[in-house]
Amino acid sequence: MTTNLKVYNTLSGEKEKFEPINAPHVGMYVCGPTVYSFVHLGNCRTFISFDMIYRYLTHLGYKVRYVRNITDAGHLENDADEGEDKISKKARLEALEPMEIVQKYTLNFHDVLAKFNNIPPSIEPTATGHIVEQIDMIQQILDEGFAYEVNGSVYFDEEAFNKSNANEYGKLSGRKIDELMAGSRELDGQSEKRNPVDFALWKKASPYHIMRWNSPWSLGFPGWHLECSVMSSKYLGDTFDIHGGGMDLKFPHHECEIAQCKAANHVDPVKYWLHTNMLTLNGARMSKSTGNTLLPEELFDGDNDKLDKAYHPIVVRFFMMQAHYRSSLDFSSDALSASEKGFERLMEAMATLSEIQAGESSTNDFSAWKAKCYAAMDDDFNTPILISHLFEAVKWINAVKAGNASISATDLNELKDTLNAFVYDVLGLYPIESAAAGESDDFVNSLMETLIEVRKEAKLKRDFATADYIRERLSNLQVTLKDSKDGTTWDKE
Ligand code: AMP
Ligand code: ZN
Repeated sequence: MTTNLKVYNTLSGEKEKFEPINAPHVGMYVCGPTVYSFVHLGNCRTFISFDMIYRYLTHLGYKVRYVRNITDAGHLENDADEGEDKISKKARLEALEPMEIVQKYTLNFHDVLAKFNNIPPSIEPTATGHIVEQIDMIQQILDEGFAYEVNGSVYFDEEAFNKSNANEYGKLSGRKIDELMAGSRELDGQSEKRNPVDFALWKKASPYHIMRWNSPWSLGFPGWHLECSVMSSKYLGDTFDIHGGGMDLKFPHHECEIAQCKAANHVDPVKYWLHTNMLTLNGARMSKSTGNTLLPEELFDGDNDKLDKAYHPIVVRFFMMQAHYRSSLDFSSDALSASEKGFERLMEAMATLSEIQAGESSTNDFSAWKAKCYAAMDDDFNTPILISHLFEAVKWINAVKAGNASISATDLNELKDTLNAFVYDVLGLYPIESAAAGESDDFVNSLMETLIEVRKEAKLKRDFATADYIRERLSNLQVTLKDSKDGTTWDKE
């Protein structure tokens, strides 16, 4: 299959025609969160951007296998090779088991992304679930002569790798290995590493490091960069189509991923590298480490000093879609409240669409409009341009309603299909009011009856996972189910 999609590839610094290795199949890997604290809105922006990309690829007819990992071990403080594991540190501070920390923040992550209407990935592998595979890859890299062992730790040997790979290390981020070596040599006198740019593949655990596993080298733990190389190649193959993440991960994380894969598998792992830009707050990057963050929950309940009121998650999603994923986006009360007005105007037009009558002919050129919508998305997922075209349709719909324009029956049908596809399927929005229509809305009522029935059946079969899933998804839409001896009723906030 062929499409007109072009994507900006960080590797070439250019927009390239998207030609999957094995169309219609597409393999996409996105670096997931390190689950040691609540996700902030900056993290959410990256995951919402890739959700939109996943949705558009699927809309175009690609069969996407979307893999997004959970980092639950090996990520040390300051993203370095020395220091405490971020998860164990949090476990110590909260007096919990590391795996309780992992569970707590993984649940939060899923909950928040569901509120933003993100579709879960096809596979969500964890670092701790792939220790054996990580040990295998380290052994392969050692066998190839691109790693060395010191005191039970194994380090990637940049010099050896670069010599036999045409100085490739740095090609994604544009860093020069000589400069990297010169810049860091003096800082690192005590290190076990032969070279300061070398990075850990396996670390021997200190007596205080509680997350540790057996390996041929020591009781220890894998380096942070390794898990993504291992899990992407395990589930998507040695070379796959898309690798994504925030642009802060380009160096060193993604650069190290490329080196590890190339060293172990002899091929470049990724055809298209896609990087999202940062969400900023008061002009500075939103980040856990600096504390310049806003949590999604604070936004949804308005409980913070940065905003004047609460905002619905879907409005926040729309706000994010109004910026291109490669542009930085600054978060402010004013910008969000402008987005809310735009979102309402769009959704009102979507509702009006079902009321308007078709005429003899169309005053506007529907086909040209539809082509512009696709052209925007085909141009490296340009959602802000797409949204500007959607607002052209809003004007047309309102003009038809007011009797100042007309639309033919064929065009009206196609306009509905196209708007539904872009607004709901691709941008992932949904009308906030739909479930609130309550008893006056027969359609919603019968949908709710169906869901309640399915949940009841599930409970009878002791399939509590399904029953809980239904309750949880409804709760994300502010719909509460009340069980009593007379049956189940529902209520929308
Ligand atoms: P972390 O859990 O810190 O590894 O981050 C998870 C994902 O969120 C990574 O892909 C980061 O690049 C991304 N990220 C972190 N901060 C921001 C931000 N301010 N804006 C957008 N993405 C971010
Ligand atoms: Zn990663």
